[in-house]
Parts: sequence; structure tokens; C-alpha cells
Amino acid sequence: MGIFHIALDGPSGAGKSTVAKAIAKKLDIAYLDTGAMYRTVGLYMYENNVEISPVAVKEALSGCEIEVCYNGGEQIMLLGGRNVNKEIREHHVSSLASRVSAIPCVREYLVALQQRIAEGRSFVLDGRDIGTCVLPGAKYKFFLTATAGERARRRCAELEQKGTPIAFEQVLADIEKRDYDDSHREISPLRKAEDAIVVDSTDMDAQQVIDYIVGLIKE
Ligand code: C5P
Repeated sequence: MGIFHIALDGPSGAGKSTVAKAIAKKLDIAYLDTGAMYRTVGLYMYENNVEISPVAVKEALSGCEIEVCYNGGEQIMLLGGRNVNKEIREHHVSSLASRVSAIPCVREYLVALQQRIAEGRSFVLDGRDIGTCVLPGAKYKFFLTATAGERARRRCAELEQKGTPIAFEQVLADIEKRDYDDSHREISPLRKAEDAIVVDSTDMDAQQVIDYIVGLIKE
């Protein structure tokens, strides 16, 4: 098939990372979760008490050393050489990630890094702007979505399993706020690329979504 890229975009909690990981495994290609990179920048700003404003974040960004590496196919985020995979999944980091992602210098920095990582190798990338901005020439583009209620239900189940339950109403409100912020920011808002295929997973489980997408690619 040669080198090819798959862009998997969509709102928070649509199951992008689960699906992207499984597709990467099935097709034996690499996987990049770009949300993890915004989360790492958010964590850096939090740990260094940086105010989330364009000026302060721009100034602090030069000290933020982000690296992506892989261990047996698993993506590891390094911040100044330290593995932060656990911290970046904490609830408060989600909204920080969303806030720093609206700042132009953060997007410029991470988009360039993502393009460098994906260059010359087959990759599936999941994010918000892969098909529209990071890799507009990607061979395959999908926009994975589900209703906000269903995404909140899945997220609650996940938090419950981790032993850190949060009330459904709170999770739903957070998801709706992130949807709004991600789709209304000025630069690279969350939107479907014109040539992306929409996959609504509201009534599908992860395996059905994976089989459907892999089927379309193999076709
Ligand atoms: O996908 P995840 O929920 O981990 O992403 C965290 C936040 O990072 C999102 O809410 C979004 O604001 C931002 N993001 C982005 N562009 C991407 C990936 C994530 O703006 N390509």
C-alpha cells in the first residue's frame, strides 16, 4: 500500500484513541494521539504556575520540552524527560489542554512536531484538526462522533472503572463545554474535513467502529 496516513478527528470522548490504536495494530502502522501532546503542554503550564494567556504561555513554551516515544507500540509522553502518561489523564488536565490548544503558538509548535513525527512513515493520527490542518493530504479521513450524552456515559463508566467516579451531570457539562470551546476557537476549530467520512458511533460499540473503518480502508 506504500506510505499512507489516516486522520481520525472528532469531539472528546467519541472513542478516537481506542479506535485509532486498534486500527494501527490491525494495519501494522504507527499511532499518534495528538490530544496527549496538548495535555502535556497543559500539564507543563499547570506545574509551572503559568497563567493561561497568550503572552504568558508563549513565553513559557520555550522551556517546555516535549518528546513522543514508543514502548512496544504504546505512546509515551515525555515532559523534560519524565514520563507523564498518568498525569495527563487527570480530569483537571483536560480543560487545561483545551485552553492551551486555543493559543496560536501552541498549535504552531505541536502541529509542526506532529508533521515531523508522521513524515515518511504510515501513521494513524487522532485529534481535532488532523484532516483539516496537520495532514490535509491524508489518504483516509474519518470524523468519529457520538451524541454528547453517550460520550458522557462512556466517560463515566471509564472513570468508575478507574476508581475515580465523577457525577454524570458534571461529566456531561464538561464535555459540552469542551465541544463548544473546541469548535468555536479562532484557529483550527474542530470541524469535519470536507472529504472526511462521518462515523456516528452512538449505537455502535468500539469493535463495530473498528471493523467498519478497517473495512472501508481495505476496500
Ligand atoms: O483528545 P483529548 O481529549 O485528549 O484532547 C485534549 C484537548 O486537546 C482537546 O479538548 C482539544 O482542545 C485539544 N486538541 C486539539 N487538537 C488536537 C488534539 C487535541 O486542539 N489535534
